[in-house]
Parts: sequence; structure tokens; C-alpha cells
Amino acid sequence: MKNTKQRCAIMQILKQSSDPVSAEDIFAALKAENPSLALSTVYRNLERFAGDGLIKKDVWRDGIVRYSIAQEHHGHYLICTECSAKIRIEDCPLTGIEQGLAHDTGYEIEGHTLTIYGKCPKCVRREKARKAQNQ
Ligand SMILES: [Zn+2]
Ligand SMILES: [Zn+2]
Repeated sequence: MKNTKQRCAIMQILKQSSDPVSAEDIFAALKAENPSLALSTVYRNLERFAGDGLIKKDVWRDGIVRYSIAQEHHGHYLICTECSAKIRIEDCPLTGIEQGLAHDTGYEIEGHTLTIYGKCPKCVRREKARKAQNQ
């Protein structure tokens, strides 16, 4: 198995598993199809992924290190078009829409992006002041 292929196969397993997996879990899953694969290779790749921030590495209470795909906490932003001030919107307003779409279209929804733009109160005030001056 070539290096890139190994990396892909390891990543694939991480993406498919809903729970964090250990290097041994991944090794066991890949071993049958790839007899030449070494556990040390799996470890090396996992460390590399973790180093690159692609995956999260946690030591569990049983002492076993488990890995999972690093997911940014889901959220959206409200951004000021004047000064680029950012406000994080913690609640996702699209969850219900996604479910409805999945139901109506048969799509398996994988995600979305949403950014809302506007003018922050500071910029609105500044603009009003400027207009008042010009009058
Ligand atoms: Zn602003
Ligand atoms: Zn969302």
C-alpha cells in the first residue's frame, strides 16, 4: 500500500466511525485488506494528522489514545461590512431546514455554511453622525 493510499484509508475509517477510534482499531480494520500494513505506520500517520490539526487525540480513562475527526464547533457569524466586527451565532437556525430538505429531496445533508452581514451599532452610529454633520 502506498503512503497516500494508507493515509486515505486511515482517514476514511476516522470519518466513518461515529466514535473515536484507537490506532489498534484502525489497524484491525485495515489489516485484512492490507497485510503489509504495520501498526507503527498507522501510529505515524495518526500523529501526523493530529499534528496538522485534522484529527483530535484524546487519552481515555482506560489509558488508550483514541482519535476522532476534528470538528469545529458548529456556529455562524454575523459580520459588520464596515469594520469586520464579528459576532458568533451559537444557535444554528438551519437544523430544521436541513431535516425538511433531507425529507423532501432524499438528499443526505452533509453540512452548510451561513454568514450574515450587516452594520454593527458602532458603524451605524458613526454613519448617522456623519450624515448629521453633512446636513
Ligand atoms: Zn462595524
Ligand atoms: Zn448551521
